[in-house]
Amino acid sequence: MEKEQAKPRFVSLKVKWALGTAIGSLLISLIVVTALFSSFTQDLLNQERKSLNDSLVTTSHQLGATNRDDITTQQINHLLQKRIKSQTVNQVRQSYQGPIIQEIINPRTEVAIYNRQNHLVFSTGTLYRAPAKVKTSQIQLVSGKKHKILLGRAPIYSKSTKKVVGYLQIENHLTNYYQRYNRLLLISILALTLVVIASGLLGYGLSYLILRPLDDIQSTIVAIRDDPTKNQRVPELNRNDELAELSQIFNAMLDRMQRYIDQQSQFVGDVSHELRTPVAIIQGHMQMLQRWGKDDPQVLEESIPAVIAETKRMNSLVQEMLDLSRAEQVELNFRDATTPVRDVVHQVYNNFKMIHPDFEFMLDDDLRHDEVVKIYRDHLEQILIILCDNAVKYSGERKKIHLSLSRNLRAVEIGVQDFGEGISPEELSKVFDRFYRVDKARSRKKGGNGLGLAIAKRLIEGYHGTITVESQLGSGSLFRLTLPIVDVKNNNAEKNQEREK
Ligand code: ADP
Repeated sequence: MEKEQAKPRFVSLKVKWALGTAIGSLLISLIVVTALFSSFTQDLLNQERKSLNDSLVTTSHQLGATNRDDITTQQINHLLQKRIKSQTVNQVRQSYQGPIIQEIINPRTEVAIYNRQNHLVFSTGTLYRAPAKVKTSQIQLVSGKKHKILLGRAPIYSKSTKKVVGYLQIENHLTNYYQRYNRLLLISILALTLVVIASGLLGYGLSYLILRPLDDIQSTIVAIRDDPTKNQRVPELNRNDELAELSQIFNAMLDRMQRYIDQQSQFVGDVSHELRTPVAIIQGHMQMLQRWGKDDPQVLEESIPAVIAETKRMNSLVQEMLDLSRAEQVELNFRDATTPVRDVVHQVYNNFKMIHPDFEFMLDDDLRHDEVVKIYRDHLEQILIILCDNAVKYSGERKKIHLSLSRNLRAVEIGVQDFGEGISPEELSKVFDRFYRVDKARSRKKGGNGLGLAIAKRLIEGYHGTITVESQLGSGSLFRLTLPIVDVKNNNAEKNQEREK
């Protein structure tokens, strides 16, 4: 049996952000604090080492002020008593400042003096380390009872004979150093904890502020998912960052989607409305035939052509609707199509002249070369046929149609002008809408579904062209098309470059 893949646990971005900042700041402060801590404690240790060295030098120097070959207990007692017996108070104080006394009364150090044979002659307490006959003064960091201690050893040279008369050993228990070390460690740990908590909280707070609009965006998405027709949008964010931009783009996308949905449902409504009439007519005739027309030649003669006419209309309507839906996708399917414009215009002009011999057609061609425009040939033909068909349909008595062809800097202009019934200013903006007919009944009689101009507009805009109309009621209309010209030179250069590659 296949194991169901476990869904990864949801972890909020805010928590991730807070954790990230906390870990980041912990790492940085750990490096800084460790560097500071080790340099500070190293300094402290060096100080202790230096003061131990001073003590070794001065004390061994003082003990060496003897004329004997060896150091004895009496001599040291004598030395101490002599100092203590000093007469005046000032002299007593001065004598206590002597190095040996200072080391003896220092609670942080233990002093031991050995004779030449390395036998103990004086000590202030128990020493951790055994004596050693050293030749020169030396200081070592050695392990003590609880922690490390500083061990200083020095030979005592007689001042007069310059010979070794004994050995001095001072142990510094580093209590002062460890006191400060522990205090510093505590402060560092506290500081680090504080940094982690503060940066975590700050990161969380900041991400909360920054990501707050995400909740609005999410609730809008959920609302639209549940009901796509809902008119909900992400509220104005009053900020100028990526999220504000995202919500603007998202709102624009929703607006567009909404427009598409509206258009789609309107289209379905329009189509069913348009189909209702022919279907009703066909149904009426069929019912009539079924009831009493089967054997009545007059009814048959009336009904059959009417039904055929309506099916023809339905056929053309279906075809035009198909054209309209295809026209929406030209940008995708015919992006690279090009057509020599003069060729097509002349062809349509000649065809119309032939089909409608009762009309006077004129073509005013101002093009010097046959320009190539960005459009699929059949589509340009279809647009021109729609415009010329309309010109014929709505020409009335003055059967004259004028085509023109010219160019400006970037585009070719094609004009289709008639001198017929024209369009009123109120209707002018609506003629490109789907299923719009100025006079429904009349247009229907002429076989119009109100889709021709809608198809033409969608097609031409799909190729980044324009279509406009100027008209005056009773005087005629002028439909103008523009289509971008293909820069043949640049195109050839590009193609050559590609080929060379
Ligand atoms: P139809 O198939 O009904 O002609 P169109 O979309 O081609 O549909 O045109 C829409 C409406 O615009 C027409 O019903 C007509 O009333 C008006 N119209 C189009 N072309 C002309 C024109 N050349 N002169 C006057 N009216 C026009």
